[in-house]
Amino acid sequence: MSGLEDVKHVIPVLSGKGGVGKSTVTAALAVALWSMGYRVGVLDIDLTGPSVPGIFGMADSHVHAAPDGWVPVFVDREQRLGLMSLGFLLGSKADAVIWRGPKKTAMIKQFIEDVIWGDLDVLLVDTPPGTSDEHISMAENLVAARVDGAVVVTTPQAVSLLDVRKELDFCKKVDLPVLGIVENMSGYVCPHCADCTNIFSTGGGEALAKEYNLHFLARLPIEPELTKILDSGNVARMLDEPDQCATLMRCATLQRAI
Ligand code: ADP
Repeated sequence: MSGLEDVKHVIPVLSGKGGVGKSTVTAALAVALWSMGYRVGVLDIDLTGPSVPGIFGMADSHVHAAPDGWVPVFVDREQRLGLMSLGFLLGSKADAVIWRGPKKTAMIKQFIEDVIWGDLDVLLVDTPPGTSDEHISMAENLVAARVDGAVVVTTPQAVSLLDVRKELDFCKKVDLPVLGIVENMSGYVCPHCADCTNIFSTGGGEALAKEYNLHFLARLPIEPELTKILDSGNVARMLDEPDQCATLMRCATLQRAI
């Protein structure tokens, strides 16, 4: 059956700005939950810049249309980690999506109602940055259906934190609960001397969480190995040995916090 009826938890991942690691946190969370035995779905509603297919190394896959709806693209043999993204429906990876609001709204509605998610423990929703048509449509369709709450990702700099405030205001206005804040790219630990350099400052996400009385879920450092894995779409390959990547597993702390 298509839709969210058999999905236990729905968790959108939001950020005020682009490039702060929202898709990274979504992917890390998906792998961490998967490696704990859960059935996980990742819905990518970043319609103009879908990055989920590439991160999971599934950019050449296509969605199969069954009589009941769209079948997600599964990353693993057991079919416990399924993905859905506009990237799977485009003719070419370089195709630009130039859509006005109503078309975006219709697409997101279809992603929520017409995908055969089946029996999932968690559906993570990767969103575009900001508070655009996609967010409004997600809020209308998901908040009305049922959503547990959002994970908000920020980097520690003031400019990113300012946009997170707008994101939190958006959540309040559309009645979307916030599970907590993740501070990404929070320092770089030198592999040689173990010294931590706070390239983008540090602590801003935690301070914001305190100010808004929200959970501070995790502080994730800059991890060059992680960039390599994500940029080469190697996440899918890691599923065979998830313990290999310490950074992705660190996101398990996120899972416990949620
Ligand atoms: P967003 O979804 O917010 O636009 P991404 O998750 O695509 O951001 O991340 C932007 C870039 O930064 C990607 O190349 C990603 O691999 C890299 N990145 C994100 N978080 C980290 C991190 N903690 N360590 C190293 N690279 C990171």
